[in-house]
This record gives sequence, structure tokens and C-alpha cells, in this order.
Amino acid sequence: MKVRIDYDLCMGDRNCNKVCPEVFEYDEDQMISRVLVDEVPEHLEKLVLKAADECAPKAIVIEE
Ligand code: SF4
Repeated sequence: MKVRIDYDLCMGDRNCNKVCPEVFEYDEDQMISRVLVDEVPEHLEKLVLKAADECAPKAIVIEE
């Protein structure tokens, strides 16, 4: 599974970073989250899906 953030939609509320910090880093200066991994490790897939589900503006794009 691959994941990316649509920066036209991200509002920088940091929820994805709180849900799965192993995959989503928060940039304090830019006030946006970044994806840290190219391929999501299998044991983190559920958390990434949860983060995507909880992302209010639907900025987290899952690419399988
Ligand atoms: S949860 Fe969504 S809106 Fe919030 S920082 Fe992450 S990608 Fe951006």
C-alpha cells in the first residue's frame, strides 16, 4: 500500500500524525504532515486507513 497527502486539501490539523506517527510526520514550521515511507509496512496499514478515514478534508490518498 502507498499513501500520499493532497496538499490542496490538507488543513494541517495533525490528526494523521497522532494516529500513525510512524508514517505521518508533522512539520511544525510548514504546519502540514508529510508521508515518511514509500511503501506502508503491512503492520501499519490499518492505522493508515484509520488516519485516512479520520482526515476531515479527505486529504489522505491511498494508492494500492
Ligand atoms: S489528518 Fe488530513 S488534514 Fe490533518 S494533517 Fe493529516 S492529511 Fe492534513
